[in-house]
Amino acid sequence: MNDHAPLLSVRDLHKSYPSAGGDLVVLNSVNLSLSRGVAMALMGPSGCGKSTLLNIIGALDTPTSGAVSVDGQDPFSLDRRALARFRNHKIGYVFQDHHLLPQCTALENVLAPTLAFRDNPDRSDRARELLQRVGLAARMDHRPAEMSGGERQRVALARALINEPRLLLADEPTGSLDRRAGDQIAELLRELTAADGVAMIVVTHSAMLAGAFAKCYELRDGALTTSGAAA
Ligand code: ADP
Ligand code: MG
Repeated sequence: MNDHAPLLSVRDLHKSYPSAGGDLVVLNSVNLSLSRGVAMALMGPSGCGKSTLLNIIGALDTPTSGAVSVDGQDPFSLDRRALARFRNHKIGYVFQDHHLLPQCTALENVLAPTLAFRDNPDRSDRARELLQRVGLAARMDHRPAEMSGGERQRVALARALINEPRLLLADEPTGSLDRRAGDQIAELLRELTAADGVAMIVVTHSAMLAGAFAKCYELRDGALTTSGAAA
Protein backbone atom coordinates (compact mmCIF):
# COMPACT_ATOMS: atom_id res chain seq x y z
CA MET A 1 0.00 0.00 0.00
CA ASN A 2 1.37 3.38 -1.07
CA ASP A 3 1.71 5.64 1.98
CA HIS A 4 0.95 8.74 -0.07
CA ALA A 5 -2.35 7.48 -1.45
CA PRO A 6 -5.33 8.76 0.53
CA LEU A 7 -6.66 6.38 3.14
CA LEU A 8 -10.20 7.03 1.98
CA SER A 9 -11.23 7.91 -1.52
CA VAL A 10 -14.82 8.41 -2.62
CA ARG A 11 -15.42 9.02 -6.31
CA ASP A 12 -18.62 10.19 -7.99
CA LEU A 13 -20.85 8.49 -5.47
CA HIS A 14 -24.58 8.37 -6.16
CA LYS A 15 -27.33 6.96 -4.02
CA SER A 16 -31.03 7.05 -4.73
CA TYR A 17 -34.00 5.23 -3.30
CA PRO A 18 -36.92 4.22 -5.50
CA SER A 19 -40.08 5.96 -4.35
CA ALA A 20 -43.63 6.37 -5.62
CA GLY A 21 -43.05 9.82 -7.11
CA GLY A 22 -39.78 8.82 -8.86
CA ASP A 23 -36.32 8.15 -7.46
CA LEU A 24 -35.35 9.99 -4.30
CA VAL A 25 -31.80 11.18 -4.96
CA VAL A 26 -29.88 11.39 -1.69
CA LEU A 27 -26.26 11.51 -2.85
CA ASN A 28 -25.51 13.15 -6.17
CA SER A 29 -21.86 12.85 -7.12
CA VAL A 30 -20.05 12.94 -3.80
CA ASN A 31 -16.27 13.14 -4.00
CA LEU A 32 -14.02 12.97 -0.99
CA SER A 33 -10.50 12.08 -0.10
CA LEU A 34 -9.10 11.69 3.40
CA SER A 35 -5.50 11.09 4.40
CA ARG A 36 -4.31 8.86 7.20
CA GLY A 37 -4.89 10.29 10.64
CA VAL A 38 -7.01 13.23 9.45
CA ALA A 39 -10.21 14.08 11.31
CA MET A 40 -13.17 15.44 9.39
CA ALA A 41 -16.50 16.82 10.54
CA LEU A 42 -19.60 16.26 8.41
CA MET A 43 -22.50 18.65 8.84
CA GLY A 44 -25.86 19.21 7.20
CA PRO A 45 -29.56 19.35 8.08
CA SER A 46 -31.50 16.31 9.16
CA GLY A 47 -32.42 14.09 6.20
CA CYS A 48 -29.69 15.41 3.88
CA GLY A 49 -27.96 12.03 3.63
CA LYS A 50 -25.17 12.11 6.24
CA SER A 51 -25.95 8.65 7.62
CA THR A 52 -26.40 7.29 4.11
CA LEU A 53 -22.93 8.54 3.16
CA LEU A 54 -21.33 7.19 6.33
CA ASN A 55 -23.03 3.83 5.92
CA ILE A 56 -21.79 3.50 2.35
CA ILE A 57 -18.23 4.49 3.31
CA GLY A 58 -18.41 1.94 6.13
CA ALA A 59 -19.73 -0.72 3.72
CA LEU A 60 -22.94 -1.13 5.71
CA ASP A 61 -24.90 -0.01 2.64
CA THR A 62 -24.18 -0.01 -1.10
CA PRO A 63 -24.11 2.94 -3.50
CA THR A 64 -26.26 3.19 -6.62
CA SER A 65 -23.04 4.00 -8.48
CA GLY A 66 -19.55 5.33 -7.79
CA ALA A 67 -16.42 4.05 -6.10
CA VAL A 68 -15.13 3.81 -2.55
CA SER A 69 -11.62 2.83 -1.57
CA VAL A 70 -10.45 2.36 2.02
CA ASP A 71 -6.79 1.60 2.62
CA GLY A 72 -6.45 0.55 -1.01
CA GLN A 73 -9.42 -1.83 -0.96
CA ASP A 74 -12.75 -1.56 -2.75
CA PRO A 75 -15.19 -2.98 -0.18
CA PHE A 76 -17.86 -3.59 -2.82
CA SER A 77 -15.65 -6.02 -4.72
CA LEU A 78 -15.34 -8.31 -1.69
CA ASP A 79 -17.36 -11.44 -1.03
CA ARG A 80 -19.46 -11.67 2.12
CA ARG A 81 -16.80 -13.11 4.39
CA ALA A 82 -14.03 -10.81 3.14
CA LEU A 83 -16.38 -7.87 3.59
CA ALA A 84 -17.12 -8.85 7.20
CA ARG A 85 -13.38 -9.10 7.82
CA PHE A 86 -12.80 -5.72 6.15
CA ARG A 87 -15.38 -4.05 8.39
CA ASN A 88 -14.03 -5.76 11.48
CA HIS A 89 -10.38 -4.91 10.83
CA LYS A 90 -10.38 -1.57 9.02
CA ILE A 91 -13.32 0.39 10.34
CA GLY A 92 -14.52 1.46 13.76
CA TYR A 93 -18.12 2.52 14.17
CA VAL A 94 -19.69 4.76 16.79
CA PHE A 95 -23.42 5.37 16.50
CA GLN A 96 -25.75 7.81 18.22
CA ASP A 97 -26.96 5.00 20.46
CA HIS A 98 -24.20 2.95 22.00
CA HIS A 99 -25.41 -0.51 20.77
CA LEU A 100 -23.65 -2.20 23.68
CA LEU A 101 -24.60 -5.76 24.62
CA PRO A 102 -26.73 -5.37 27.78
CA GLN A 103 -25.68 -8.66 29.38
CA CYS A 104 -21.94 -7.99 28.96
CA THR A 105 -19.58 -5.91 31.09
CA ALA A 106 -17.76 -2.87 29.73
CA LEU A 107 -14.63 -4.97 29.24
CA GLU A 108 -16.53 -7.75 27.45
CA ASN A 109 -18.25 -5.21 25.22
CA VAL A 110 -14.92 -3.67 24.22
CA LEU A 111 -13.57 -7.14 23.43
CA ALA A 112 -16.63 -8.24 21.41
CA PRO A 113 -15.20 -7.22 17.99
CA THR A 114 -12.07 -9.29 18.65
CA LEU A 115 -14.18 -12.45 18.80
CA ALA A 116 -15.57 -12.09 15.27
CA PHE A 117 -12.73 -14.05 13.70
CA ARG A 118 -10.87 -17.00 15.12
CA ASP A 119 -7.49 -15.62 14.08
CA ASN A 120 -7.96 -12.17 15.69
CA PRO A 121 -5.26 -11.66 18.33
CA ASP A 122 -6.00 -11.56 22.06
CA ARG A 123 -6.49 -7.90 22.86
CA SER A 124 -7.40 -8.07 26.55
CA ASP A 125 -4.52 -5.78 27.52
CA ARG A 126 -5.44 -3.25 24.85
CA ALA A 127 -9.08 -3.35 25.98
CA ARG A 128 -8.08 -2.51 29.56
CA GLU A 129 -5.76 0.23 28.33
CA LEU A 130 -8.47 1.76 26.13
CA LEU A 131 -10.98 1.72 28.98
CA GLN A 132 -8.37 3.44 31.10
CA ARG A 133 -7.78 6.05 28.40
CA VAL A 134 -11.50 6.85 28.22
CA GLY A 135 -11.58 7.25 32.01
CA LEU A 136 -13.36 4.01 32.87
CA ALA A 137 -10.67 2.10 34.76
CA ALA A 138 -13.14 1.77 37.65
CA ARG A 139 -16.05 0.65 35.46
CA MET A 140 -14.62 -2.36 33.60
CA ASP A 141 -16.99 -4.83 35.23
CA HIS A 142 -20.08 -2.64 35.01
CA ARG A 143 -22.88 -3.58 32.65
CA PRO A 144 -24.44 -0.90 30.41
CA ALA A 145 -27.45 -0.49 32.75
CA GLU A 146 -25.00 0.34 35.56
CA MET A 147 -23.39 3.22 33.65
CA SER A 148 -24.36 6.76 32.62
CA GLY A 149 -25.06 7.68 28.99
CA GLY A 150 -21.65 9.33 28.67
CA GLU A 151 -19.92 6.30 30.16
CA ARG A 152 -21.74 3.95 27.80
CA GLN A 153 -20.67 6.05 24.84
CA ARG A 154 -17.07 5.98 26.09
CA VAL A 155 -17.26 2.18 26.16
CA ALA A 156 -18.56 2.29 22.58
CA LEU A 157 -15.60 4.47 21.65
CA ALA A 158 -13.11 2.01 23.17
CA ARG A 159 -14.90 -0.84 21.37
CA ALA A 160 -14.64 1.00 18.03
CA LEU A 161 -10.86 1.26 18.46
CA ILE A 162 -10.11 -2.21 19.81
CA ASN A 163 -9.11 -3.76 16.47
CA GLU A 164 -6.87 -0.80 15.56
CA PRO A 165 -9.03 0.42 12.66
CA ARG A 166 -7.72 2.78 9.97
CA LEU A 167 -10.95 4.73 9.80
CA LEU A 168 -13.39 5.66 12.55
CA LEU A 169 -16.93 6.58 11.53
CA ALA A 170 -19.01 8.34 14.16
CA ASP A 171 -22.62 9.21 13.35
CA GLU A 172 -23.82 11.86 15.79
CA PRO A 173 -21.90 10.21 18.63
CA THR A 174 -22.87 12.93 21.09
CA GLY A 175 -26.48 13.25 19.90
CA SER A 176 -28.11 11.46 22.81
CA LEU A 177 -25.93 13.04 25.51
CA ASP A 178 -26.19 16.24 27.48
CA ARG A 179 -23.84 19.05 26.53
CA ARG A 180 -21.10 18.28 29.05
CA ALA A 181 -20.97 14.53 28.38
CA GLY A 182 -21.14 15.27 24.64
CA ASP A 183 -18.19 17.65 24.80
CA GLN A 184 -16.17 15.05 26.70
CA ILE A 185 -16.89 12.41 24.07
CA ALA A 186 -15.94 14.79 21.28
CA GLU A 187 -12.68 15.66 23.00
CA LEU A 188 -11.90 11.99 23.58
CA LEU A 189 -12.60 11.17 19.95
CA ARG A 190 -10.07 13.77 18.88
CA GLU A 191 -7.44 12.69 21.40
CA LEU A 192 -7.71 8.98 20.70
CA THR A 193 -7.74 9.18 16.94
CA ALA A 194 -4.89 11.71 16.90
CA ALA A 195 -2.78 9.55 19.21
CA ASP A 196 -3.39 6.41 17.15
CA GLY A 197 -3.23 8.07 13.70
CA VAL A 198 -6.75 6.96 12.86
CA ALA A 199 -8.66 8.89 10.19
CA MET A 200 -12.12 9.87 11.32
CA ILE A 201 -15.41 11.22 10.01
CA VAL A 202 -17.75 12.61 12.64
CA VAL A 203 -21.31 13.65 11.87
CA THR A 204 -22.19 16.55 14.10
CA HIS A 205 -24.62 19.44 14.41
CA SER A 206 -22.23 21.38 16.61
CA ALA A 207 -20.38 24.11 14.71
CA MET A 208 -18.05 24.44 17.67
CA LEU A 209 -17.11 20.78 17.54
CA ALA A 210 -16.78 20.88 13.76
CA GLY A 211 -14.51 23.93 13.93
CA ALA A 212 -11.96 21.94 15.91
CA PHE A 213 -11.45 19.39 13.11
CA ALA A 214 -8.83 19.58 10.38
CA LYS A 215 -11.52 19.29 7.71
CA CYS A 216 -15.13 20.31 7.76
CA TYR A 217 -17.67 19.54 5.05
CA GLU A 218 -21.34 20.14 4.64
CA LEU A 219 -23.64 17.88 2.68
CA ARG A 220 -25.99 20.00 0.62
CA ASP A 221 -28.27 18.93 -2.22
CA GLY A 222 -26.51 15.60 -2.35
CA ALA A 223 -23.00 16.99 -2.73
CA LEU A 224 -20.19 17.91 -0.34
CA THR A 225 -19.13 21.49 0.07
CA THR A 226 -16.35 22.75 2.31
CA SER A 227 -17.70 24.51 5.32
CA GLY A 228 -16.23 26.97 7.80
CA ALA A 229 -12.66 28.12 8.16
CA ALA A 230 -11.14 24.74 8.88
CA ALA A 231 -11.53 23.24 5.42
P1 ADP B 1 -29.32 12.23 7.73
O1 ADP B 1 -28.45 11.20 8.38
O2 ADP B 1 -28.55 13.35 7.11
O3 ADP B 1 -30.37 12.75 8.65
P2 ADP B 1 -30.21 9.98 6.10
O4 ADP B 1 -28.98 9.58 5.39
O5 ADP B 1 -30.63 9.15 7.25
O6 ADP B 1 -30.10 11.53 6.52
O7 ADP B 1 -31.41 10.02 5.06
C1 ADP B 1 -31.33 10.76 3.85
C2 ADP B 1 -32.65 10.67 3.09
O8 ADP B 1 -32.80 9.35 2.58
C3 ADP B 1 -33.88 10.94 3.92
O9 ADP B 1 -34.77 11.70 3.14
C4 ADP B 1 -34.42 9.58 4.22
O10 ADP B 1 -35.82 9.63 4.36
C5 ADP B 1 -34.03 8.79 2.98
N1 ADP B 1 -33.79 7.36 3.27
C6 ADP B 1 -32.87 6.84 4.12
N2 ADP B 1 -32.90 5.49 4.12
C7 ADP B 1 -33.86 5.14 3.23
C8 ADP B 1 -34.38 3.88 2.77
N3 ADP B 1 -33.88 2.72 3.20
N4 ADP B 1 -35.37 3.91 1.84
C9 ADP B 1 -35.85 5.07 1.37
N5 ADP B 1 -35.41 6.28 1.76
C10 ADP B 1 -34.44 6.34 2.68
MG1 MG C 1 -28.39 10.48 10.31
